[in-house]
Amino acid sequence: MEVCVKKDTIAAIATAMSDSGIGIIRVSGDEAVEIVDKIYQNAQGAKILKNYESHTIHYGFIVEEDGTFVDEVIISVMLAPRSYTMEDTVEINCHGGVLMMQKILSLVMKAGARIAEPGEFTKRAFLNGRIDLSKAEAVMDIIHAKNEFALQSSVKQLKGSVSDKIKELREKILYEIAFIESALDDPEHISLEGYDERLMHESEDILVELHKLSDSASDGKMLKEGIHTVIVGKPNVGKSSLLNILAGKERAIVTDVAGTTRDTLEETIVLGNITLNMIDTAGIRNTEDIVEKIGVEKARKISKEADLILYVMDASLPLDESDMDIIKMIVDKKAVILLNKSDLEEWVNEQSVVDAMKDVTSMDLKLTQEDDCLNSEGTKDILPYQKIEGLANTVYIMKTSTKEACGIDILTSLIKSMFFHGQITYNDEVYITNIRHKEAIFDAAKSMAEVKKSLKMNMPEDFYSIDLMSAYASLGLIIGEEVEDDLVNEIFSKFCMGK
Ligand code: GDP
Repeated sequence: MEVCVKKDTIAAIATAMSDSGIGIIRVSGDEAVEIVDKIYQNAQGAKILKNYESHTIHYGFIVEEDGTFVDEVIISVMLAPRSYTMEDTVEINCHGGVLMMQKILSLVMKAGARIAEPGEFTKRAFLNGRIDLSKAEAVMDIIHAKNEFALQSSVKQLKGSVSDKIKELREKILYEIAFIESALDDPEHISLEGYDERLMHESEDILVELHKLSDSASDGKMLKEGIHTVIVGKPNVGKSSLLNILAGKERAIVTDVAGTTRDTLEETIVLGNITLNMIDTAGIRNTEDIVEKIGVEKARKISKEADLILYVMDASLPLDESDMDIIKMIVDKKAVILLNKSDLEEWVNEQSVVDAMKDVTSMDLKLTQEDDCLNSEGTKDILPYQKIEGLANTVYIMKTSTKEACGIDILTSLIKSMFFHGQITYNDEVYITNIRHKEAIFDAAKSMAEVKKSLKMNMPEDFYSIDLMSAYASLGLIIGEEVEDDLVNEIFSKFCMGK
């Protein structure tokens, strides 16, 4: 890979740009020590930064060129190659006011450093060979982790979980490429007899592993970014109350007047190890009210893009035209229909909703119970939820009372089971949480499928050798072995300043 490693010295504020106890200005590059030395003196007023040993911390002052005192600081010196970037690095721990940090940074610039681009420190760690690309990306994911799962999986990725798995698969592929090449070069000593069968076996094994990784990606993405969830329903059915219960705090205004939620409210809700990015829409109904209409239009658009729709109904009132509209909107989506206000006298039940859906869709629908609803005697329990069978996507229906907080636990475990294959674990599984990695795995799987095809068609060896090579190259992209400069620049530009 041809990447030009800049050797100039870069600097940035590594801590948040807000007033806090301590702020850190990070300086990295060949002249890091020399540059900071120009503006630092120890408690005795001596300029001796150059004499300090690597991995030592010192108390002193930042001073301007004319000797004016700027701040009292702690300096840490980490010399190449034992630093984050593998270059000489000096970190200035100063008082964490935004003005102070900016002032010291500008002194560092004046002394000869250049302002770092976002992610440039980590980019240097990658270019200097300390970490591979998937580990560098893990650093960014750690910084942006939204929940415990995202944090754990990024930490694992940083420790090498993804790199190790990818390297293992690449080694297997490389072995086959090398074998074919040497057999073609030296047919007298290396025979390819019976090799087809062995390679078919090996390709199938590799494909199984690749599919497992790409399957983990949908779980991984959902776990990392959250499930985009939209709450829809007519006004006054209990949407805001549901959002409040899930969020555990009063945020949406709950009132008795129909139509008070005028636009949409957004909320990130962490339920154990899953995150719901909740959007509460304005009540969908046929309305002439312009303000509300903006909300309704937006609701329709958002619902189209959602991973999950929670359709709240007031089960104490009969279904009407607006319900029919909403039903049309959700039939092809993953959804849970909540028969809310189940504490009141029931007007609508599961079967009447299914009947209404049949009318709207002209589809043959029925309610079914899932096997996991069987109790220990093997008979079916009073159902917490039922599935509506016959639709293009998975739709469940269940009773709730947001007033009495009934059915909420069942709802959250139902959502988990709708989205995740099996148990979510932090332990041995390697989760692919990065879309770039997912695409590379997908391409590698496509090439491996081509290998199998060529084998079945008895094509000459060099045919599948080409596909093996491209599978090898695709996987290399994940750890940064085959990437172009542009991609490297793009990946690192997504980082924060100072990282
Ligand atoms: P939204 O307009 O759909 O957001 O509905 P709200 O959450 O604002 O609720 C409208 C009204 O219905 C409020 O007076 C709530 O107290 C009431 N409400 C919400 N959920 C329930 C429920 O499960 N049972 C009963 N009886 N009332 C509810």
